[in-house]
Amino acid sequence: MARIFSGIQPSGELHIGNYLGAVKNWVQLQETHPGALFCVVDYHAITGAYDPAVLRARRWGMAKSLLAAGIDPAKCALFMQSDVPEHTELSWIFTTLTPLGDLERQTQFKDKSSKVESIPAGLLMYPVLQSADILLYRADSVPVGEDQIQHLELARDTARKWNAKFGQEYFPEPKPLLTPTRRIMGLDGQSKMSKSLGNTIGLMETDDEIWAKLRPAMTDPQRVRKTDVGRPEVCNIFQLHKAFSSAETVAHVDAQCRTAGWGCMDCKKVLQEGMVQELTPIRRRAEMLDTEPQRVLDALASGAETARGIARETMREVRGYMGLDAVTIPTDSPA
Ligand code: SF4
Repeated sequence: MARIFSGIQPSGELHIGNYLGAVKNWVQLQETHPGALFCVVDYHAITGAYDPAVLRARRWGMAKSLLAAGIDPAKCALFMQSDVPEHTELSWIFTTLTPLGDLERQTQFKDKSSKVESIPAGLLMYPVLQSADILLYRADSVPVGEDQIQHLELARDTARKWNAKFGQEYFPEPKPLLTPTRRIMGLDGQSKMSKSLGNTIGLMETDDEIWAKLRPAMTDPQRVRKTDVGRPEVCNIFQLHKAFSSAETVAHVDAQCRTAGWGCMDCKKVLQEGMVQELTPIRRRAEMLDTEPQRVLDALASGAETARGIARETMREVRGYMGLDAVTIPTDSPA
């Protein structure tokens, strides 16, 4: 059975962007891949300026949302990256194998570093830590979105280099498991969904709040009047239907749009119904967790214990292969 590892930034409560882009898939994968590891990557969240109180709240919000969304601690390990110090230990080892040029070529580094005056080394090393996150658990498969493929390639390279240098086939080369939902644009139709841009819908938002966000959302710009025929393939609302509505409803939306059989408001109303149906149980579970917060702590503690067990064993073996195991009195000398 392939071992799965995936991480998510502690960005607070989930919104439909990171839910559809990752977490909905994780909930399915925990059924088919028992023992999957899902990690809130809080060390990755400190590469830029941040407020510790906000980070603390966001770590909690993310852990609670993941459980509310259906991550089940009986089927997988959910944990905070900073609860497993071996992530940073393996990361240091990998920095000794990673050419600087490979890191400077990473698209995300180029994007992010161009926006800051003084570039923290952590921003450059971020993909090395990401490689360590995955290889620490010797994961075979990593559910990722398309924008993470380049970082995963670096992890595969690192596994190859370490294996070649230390004469072992110890680390598997992790394969991408592409998330089935294509990336969905923000409700403004302009940029990636993000809480800070205010172009998404929170998983815990009420039915009315969902409608307030959907009502003004961008549709096919060529559909100005109700009588104009639409092009569902260019409409973001149609992409959301594919994620939240049944196959029959999606076919109906397609036909109604192309024949101007209904207006965009009718279409959005049907989408809201689908969203409410899927998100209400998640909101209810989040409310339950608010009244029983110890469940969140218990889930994280048990996930961290499982993760630490695997991580310690990996590091024990890695140190051994690298000549970093416990010092003993030499019986002979290789020199
Ligand atoms: Fe988009 Fe629906 Fe309007 Fe067609 S009818 S343009 S799919 S919102």
